[in-house]
Amino acid sequence: MHPEKSSILLIYTGGTIGMLKDPVKGTLKPIDFTNIMKHIPEIKGLGYFIESVSFDPPIDSSEIEPGIWTRIAEIIEENYQKFDGFVVLHGTDTMAYSASALSFMLEDLAKPVIFTGAQLPIGALRTDGKENLITSIVIAAAKEYGKPVVPEVCIYFESKLSRGNRTTKVNAEHFNAFQSANYPYLAKAGVHLVYDREHIRYPGKFRDLVVHKNFNQHIAILKLFPGMTPEYMDAVLGYSAMKALILETYGAGNAPTGAWFLDRIQKAARRNIIILDVTQCRWGSVELGRYETSRHLLNAGVISGYDITTEAATTKLMVLLAQNLTDDEVKMLLNKSLKGEITVP
Ligand code: ASP
Repeated sequence: MHPEKSSILLIYTGGTIGMLKDPVKGTLKPIDFTNIMKHIPEIKGLGYFIESVSFDPPIDSSEIEPGIWTRIAEIIEENYQKFDGFVVLHGTDTMAYSASALSFMLEDLAKPVIFTGAQLPIGALRTDGKENLITSIVIAAAKEYGKPVVPEVCIYFESKLSRGNRTTKVNAEHFNAFQSANYPYLAKAGVHLVYDREHIRYPGKFRDLVVHKNFNQHIAILKLFPGMTPEYMDAVLGYSAMKALILETYGAGNAPTGAWFLDRIQKAARRNIIILDVTQCRWGSVELGRYETSRHLLNAGVISGYDITTEAATTKLMVLLAQNLTDDEVKMLLNKSLKGEITVP
């Protein structure tokens, strides 16, 4: 080991950054990690101590499921003392879910975990993968007075560093694929790499890393739309093992007030299903009780998701529900910012 150099572990899970076109089918498929490194010899010039681990086989991120989050977290846990920072190469499709999940799994994280990827494979001439990967490594290695500058789970993409659990994939075409609508970017990369230290979360007391490895996947998402039928709602609520429902509502958390809707919500609440109100709007927050059309949800025991993303809500619920907590404790924690995922007024 080189004590004077920052040490970084690259964790390659797959995604477009490391894909090649299958000559027969014409589809993009992940390739192995050595091939990626061949395309980016510049990494050696950074002067860091870099090691890598690769998923075998690497996957398209549409195949991600909670077991894979556990694998990523275990790799970080096993290598936590040896490295100063971690860069996770991941497909963009579900990157915001994975970064959110890892933020809730890694309790007392004090080192950078930077997710990145690309919209074009690293072997393509116009690839965005090189800049994304190189800058992610620089961010993961950055220290000030011996301490990491960004000790959080983040996504770095197209010149912007955002908190992982505040991020959503918004573009399947442009390089600028991710957005952090309700929280400032933690860094912007231009000629200079400028960190917004006021908005970066720094751990209070030093504690050992604890990894939550279990998930309760018995959750559902019900996105409201005008014209939704009671039968459709019954089909979703008929999921008997359901422990929590994310209700994707309109605007500031609003929903229909008709008895057909409210009776079903009340019945679900009586079944001890935790109902979390998350707005369909990208910007802004749920404000239960601001309108008549949300007051009835509040009365039915629905919990405000404030400005949480659906990605963060899904993964926060899965992690919390797998711990030995009472429903009231889960509800209390949903209304609390655990890893900077919500703004509680
Ligand atoms: N389908 C790819 C994935 O998410 C897309 C990408 O990496 O950009 O793995």
